[in-house]
Amino acid sequence: MELQGHLLYIDITQICGIGCAFCMYADKHKVGMSMELSTLSRENLATLINEPAVKRISISGEGEPLNNTKVFHEILNLSNGGKRFEFITSGFFPHAKMVEFFDETDRIVTSNGDTCNIRLSADSHHIEKVKWRAHGFSLDYLRRHQPSGLSFSFRSIDTDRHFTRRYLTQELQRWGINANITELGPLEDELVVGQERFGIDYKNLVHPTVGTPKGYLDMYGYIAAIEAKVSKRFTFGSLNQSPQVNGMDVTIKPNGDVYLYGIETQCLGNMHLDRLDWPRLQALLLNDPLARALYTQPFTDLLTQLEKPNLVHSIITRVNNPYWLVKELVRHDGILQAWEAA
Ligand code: SF4
Repeated sequence: MELQGHLLYIDITQICGIGCAFCMYADKHKVGMSMELSTLSRENLATLINEPAVKRISISGEGEPLNNTKVFHEILNLSNGGKRFEFITSGFFPHAKMVEFFDETDRIVTSNGDTCNIRLSADSHHIEKVKWRAHGFSLDYLRRHQPSGLSFSFRSIDTDRHFTRRYLTQELQRWGINANITELGPLEDELVVGQERFGIDYKNLVHPTVGTPKGYLDMYGYIAAIEAKVSKRFTFGSLNQSPQVNGMDVTIKPNGDVYLYGIETQCLGNMHLDRLDWPRLQALLLNDPLARALYTQPFTDLLTQLEKPNLVHSIITRVNNPYWLVKELVRHDGILQAWEAA
């Protein structure tokens, strides 16, 4: 299996005090941990980050990554240059502190020859909870400071598309910035400010509650939208635009455990204990029948092979997302046998 254009996802904290209603990780926030780096983990992360086949390094968390900026900046410093980093955040810091964070991030990536995109959550769940909103402020920072290594984009969930459009244009207006929205597809808008373009990407709603109004993308609609975007069938792994092959999608948890994104049945190692590199991770992927099936066969084809279709259908409706579906299905004894035997 050829794999190119990997995505390395590093969850640097489980701590968060924001309290979004829909948060999937709320149970971890009070007792959770933040990542710390050991000598071996620094060596491992440097090896993983500096591999040419890596297309992007995304820093996020099962909490708010601004709660561990020290480790974020340490991770940036491990790069040998030419890398694209991304930082996914609610942007909740008071603005003076956010300026310090942006300045320091820009200083590091610029001196290393890297870039970092700051992806700000812009859905109603976050907006109602965050006192210091970073959206207009960040584009104002961009205009005033012109950081050479930073860019900005926005993210939301598909149910909030109209909210997000209205919120962003009004919030930017408060900062004296005139913006328009251009729709690019079912999962993408573009915020247009003069000659500049800022992406807005939409994820589908995971675990819709009983009272959620209809109109959100169901899991099959979400998969179809992803397939239209990349012009190929949806499999697990980091999807690249056709005709480029896909890459590995690897997540490192705050405690250092390493998984393929969405496949948490098999821990591939721990960055504090094991020597890690991409060929080793790829070998582990190929040796795991479930991961191999999910990486090589279109997901909707795999679903047709499962027994107990009524049970599977009810779980799909409840979960509404392919990655969370797999997490759920592995809890049901024997249900994934068909994939593991493939
Ligand atoms: S900011 Fe993120 S981690 Fe914190 S409660 Fe909201 S969704 Fe959860």
